[in-house]
Amino acid sequence: ETTMTQTDTRNDLSAVVAADRAHVWHHLSQHKPFETTDPRVYVEGKGLTLWDATGREFLDAVSGGVWTVNVGYGRESIADAVRDQLVKLNYFAGAAGTVPGALFAERLIEKMPGLSRVYYSNSGSEANEKVYKMVRQISHRHHGGKKSKILYRERDYHGTTIGTLATSGQKQRAEQYGPFPEGFVEVPHCLEYRAQWDTAGYGRRAADAIEEVILREGPETVGCLVLEPVTAGGGVIVPPEGYWPRVQEICRTYDILLHIDEVVCGLGRTGTWFGYQNFGIEPDFVTMAKGVASGYAAIACTVTTEAVFDLFKDDAADPLGHFRDISTFGGCTSGPVAALENMRIIEDEGLLENTKAMGARCLANLRDLMDRHPVIGDVRGMGLFCGAELVVDRATKEPMDEARVQAVVAHCLSQGVIIGATNRSLPGYNNTLCLSPALTVTAAEIDRITGAIDAALTAVFG
Ligand code: PMP
Repeated sequence: ETTMTQTDTRNDLSAVVAADRAHVWHHLSQHKPFETTDPRVYVEGKGLTLWDATGREFLDAVSGGVWTVNVGYGRESIADAVRDQLVKLNYFAGAAGTVPGALFAERLIEKMPGLSRVYYSNSGSEANEKVYKMVRQISHRHHGGKKSKILYRERDYHGTTIGTLATSGQKQRAEQYGPFPEGFVEVPHCLEYRAQWDTAGYGRRAADAIEEVILREGPETVGCLVLEPVTAGGGVIVPPEGYWPRVQEICRTYDILLHIDEVVCGLGRTGTWFGYQNFGIEPDFVTMAKGVASGYAAIACTVTTEAVFDLFKDDAADPLGHFRDISTFGGCTSGPVAALENMRIIEDEGLLENTKAMGARCLANLRDLMDRHPVIGDVRGMGLFCGAELVVDRATKEPMDEARVQAVVAHCLSQGVIIGATNRSLPGYNNTLCLSPALTVTAAEIDRITGAIDAALTAVFG
């Protein structure tokens, strides 16, 4: 049984909660609830267990809310490594390197055959923006400015900045934030449960739809295709059999760079180091953030091939050839030093294997719930990245309304289990329960999580 290891002796926690309520603008939140209830403020964590300011204990099935804390809370070895590095050298940015920056890049590339260059920044959005800028510069330097369009997929998400919102396959996220930059074009999603084509070989058909967009736009105008390996917030979508080989073929045929957004899947979430490695594809760009240092420090990486890197050569006659970009906090050493220790933990504790085993258990438990709860229309996932889509009626597949999906989430919380659901403000997409516990999760914890969902479904739907 886990117990809180230390109380917060520095602060009066009720004053902390009041300060939060008075001054913090919470992410993804309406103001209204905080007029009548205190915000939850977390104080301490160990493994998958969290304690809030009132001393209540929770089991976290979503790795810090947004699938981030892959190695779990309370890792002293990461804290020690970061502390040692910070007192030695906390920071230097620009054209110079740092020891952890060099060593983590080397370790990372060992896990990513075919890729060879790591560009550091701070967030998933930023890592993706770097790719978009690289693609635009390649277009200007090597294609007369013509091959500048970036294709993104319906239901995928790539970030919160204006540039990455222009590639939001979740339209409502971008609403009210325009105007957006030009040259971003949507391709159809590949969720077979909500099939858009009546055909066998659905994966291949969904990939063919990308080719149709490329031909409509003109292949000479398309520079890049960005895809999540497994779509996260858009509904936990694992592309069907046959999809990826066809996507790779299309990109090669039309000389289009393939960018895989591993912000969620990167560093073990699907049971392999990277999500794309389940599908045998060879990307030109891979971006990652959340699990890279499990939230112990802010770090994001844009990784690419030597061939792409070589397109950015400059010399005296061409001083604008290099990638004219910097990320100030890309020079923090806390990120790569935490990432090195995070990777060591995943390796030494066999967390990829645990992810495969516990992910299979989680999916099996959810399928068992599906047998007993008709509101579950579909169960899907890969590794410790699982979803259960709730519907009003299995025959029509009408999505369950947000209020009742959130009632299930709230009921789990009342049982002390934190689960997630696909993004709230997205009508039509907000009906999938999401589970993404830390990769250290045990069988007992998996059963407790799915048991809480079982009780919540019974309470809300009978
Ligand atoms: N890509 C994907 C697939 C994501 O899920 C997210 C974050 N939810 C991002 C990019 C953006 O990352 P960040 O919030 O670190 O900017």
